[in-house]
Amino acid sequence: MGTIKLSREALRHNLDIIAHQVGGKDKIAVVLKDNAYGHGATLIADESSRYGVKQAVVRLEREALEIVEYFENVLVLGEIPIQGHPKLSYALNSLEEIALYPKGVRVELKIDTGMHRNGITPDQLEEAFVKIAAQGLVCVGVMSHFRAADTLSSEWYWQRRIFDTLKPKALDLAKLYGWSLRFHISNSAGAFRSSECRDNMVRVGIALYGCLQMDPTLPQPAFKSVLSLWGNRIATRVLKAGQRVGYNGIYEATCDEVISTYDVGYANGLDRLASDRFTTPEGVALRGRISMDNAAFSSDKEELLIFDNANEYARSVGTIGYEILACLDKDLKREWID
Ligand SMILES: *Cc1c(COP(=O)(O)O)cnc(C)c1O
Repeated sequence: MGTIKLSREALRHNLDIIAHQVGGKDKIAVVLKDNAYGHGATLIADESSRYGVKQAVVRLEREALEIVEYFENVLVLGEIPIQGHPKLSYALNSLEEIALYPKGVRVELKIDTGMHRNGITPDQLEEAFVKIAAQGLVCVGVMSHFRAADTLSSEWYWQRRIFDTLKPKALDLAKLYGWSLRFHISNSAGAFRSSECRDNMVRVGIALYGCLQMDPTLPQPAFKSVLSLWGNRIATRVLKAGQRVGYNGIYEATCDEVISTYDVGYANGLDRLASDRFTTPEGVALRGRISMDNAAFSSDKEELLIFDNANEYARSVGTIGYEILACLDKDLKREWID
């Protein structure tokens, strides 16, 4: 099976840029959902915590339990408590959900400031606090999410305003219950939209991994891609002019060509739509259909770099780097290179 190589140097470089932008390491929460966007959750958790990051964000409780030892708090975005843990907090995504929570759990209230995906409306804040308190829960945060922070439009501004307007009201109400709240709304792109960070925390995913893409008119921080995907050679042959390789023979050699198969396929996250139309950063062409567990390239190298920036692979299949990274097979070998 292929190998994922990770650069500590790139990860630390990205953390330096983020910490500088938001005003310190203490404001960073690393987003480690979906196996840390394919990078390997415990590897990234370990390295981020050595750097000094104290907060993390995941989707599921079991993802949180896997990395909780590295952090002071882990926020679970998309699941109500199953077994619970004193260092976990849970995003509350609706009023109805409150009744399902066991007493004593720490929650962070999600406000729908315009994405219309999850969360309560701003005018339900008071009702939500009353219900949270009545259920015996402790509210430790108020949060939201930008729907288009990476594009230049007015959207970032009005979501930002709705959130900021809510803060004093939330703080006043929280006093009644003795809660102290933290506020956070920004993902990676959001964190780079303004020179000042007005919140207690930012939730950074894609920037941490060095694959943030912003509208060309917006700031372009010089992140470095952390992950590269490598294939190991299985077999090499010379394809004679006129011979075809792989399923359905969609690629035909126009002259004698050295071709090797490598041990990564669509089961490992190599999106099949890139079949016959992808070239590696070193200029090596992918030939024919990608199979489940292997793919052919015009090369005889023992170890082949397939991509060192997920956004480039994503472009060849018409998607985004996030999807390519999140779909990388959990069983691929992962190792640090520096
Ligand atoms: C995934 C996610 C993030 C991180 O987004 P990036 O664009 O990768 O920085 C932040 N907040 C929430 C709620 C998310 O689901």
